[in-house]
Amino acid sequence: MDWFIDGYVSVTNKTVIERMLAHGSSAWCLNPTFKMKRELSSIQRPFLLHISGAYRTTPTAALQTILGIPPLHMQLQFEARFTSIYRLRIPLPPFITDTQPHDLEMKATGWSTHPSEHLNPNQISFEDGEAYIARKDIINIFTDGSKTEHGVGAAFCVLTNDIWAYQWSAKLNDNNTVFQAELTALHEAVIFASHLPNHNTSIIHVDNRASIMASSNSKSTNETGRKIFKILLSNPRIKVSWVKASAGNIDNERADQLAKDATQHGQPYSHTKLPKPHIKGLLRKRMLEEWQTLWKNGDTGRKIYNIMPSVSLRPTNWIREDVIFFSQHGPFPAYLKRFHLSDSDYCSCGGIGTALHYATECIYTVSWHMRKPAPNFEQEWLKRVANNLVSRQRIRGIIKFISENRDLFRPP
Ligand SMILES: [Zn+2]
Repeated sequence: MDWFIDGYVSVTNKTVIERMLAHGSSAWCLNPTFKMKRELSSIQRPFLLHISGAYRTTPTAALQTILGIPPLHMQLQFEARFTSIYRLRIPLPPFITDTQPHDLEMKATGWSTHPSEHLNPNQISFEDGEAYIARKDIINIFTDGSKTEHGVGAAFCVLTNDIWAYQWSAKLNDNNTVFQAELTALHEAVIFASHLPNHNTSIIHVDNRASIMASSNSKSTNETGRKIFKILLSNPRIKVSWVKASAGNIDNERADQLAKDATQHGQPYSHTKLPKPHIKGLLRKRMLEEWQTLWKNGDTGRKIYNIMPSVSLRPTNWIREDVIFFSQHGPFPAYLKRFHLSDSDYCSCGGIGTALHYATECIYTVSWHMRKPAPNFEQEWLKRVANNLVSRQRIRGIIKFISENRDLFRPP
């Protein structure tokens, strides 16, 4: 049992790290136990102290909020949840999300690239295909996808002998991307073209290079892209050509307008699944809610909580001196007494050496003084000072001054 002489904390930390290395965070961190949370917190804490420059006694919960860094167990839980629903396709409990694995767009894998599985060289063109449009023997199809404040739309329209012969449009889920809309339009256009009589050659004009790339490549990891590729492979008469999206190309503008209209009034289309960033966003939102609850109900870091009641993934623009002043963990006699580093909480001026004392009344810090808060208004005062850059400059001046002249503040 010689591993035990390292002491309790380091042994348990090792266990957590070993678990992370061996299994990732996928299974064991879905529902971390109280003990795991505590161990992970002790792993994270030295980093938080180092980044913030805070005093070693500053509560972890306060540092997390100030730095915009969620508790480590929540970050691992976020990864575990994402792995579970997106990679392992295991549903999450409804209190986390209603989204099911089958609602999510999957990364396509396991494609066997037989050498014969190539498109005809002339099937895909990245040259501007405007020249084709004039040819009467060709069926020209124009596709477009659009995302506006109203939603997401996809459309294609069919031009034969200078006549608009057919058009299709649909409204996708608001969480779909414009790229998904472009690919959906191309997919529907390819399906339409594959049902045309065999002697027809059709050209699908796409103004989005990325969706042509995703559909002409047998190694594409995009599900819809692969479906399009399969249809193109068995229908060599269908060609896909890039067309410049520019004002003046009336045919392309028609598809653009159709897609834009569909964002608002289109028929709902449910075949396009939700993109990966969508589920990441949902899980991130859930993590923030859980972090917020923890912060609100916590019993440490309350001084910071009163100034910063909401957690966020954006760090505050606080520097070391701000953290020291507002956490009140710093070179103040009142702090030193509280943590048994000194016998007295008196400042050498005769007052009680609290953070507020130096900001408002100590004779040694007069040049940075601010107006003293009325009794019972200390919290409002701290909040106002924290949100005012001029006041914060004064705070920083005081903390630097005290730190550099400690002997001056020791009681005689
Ligand atoms: Zn003083």
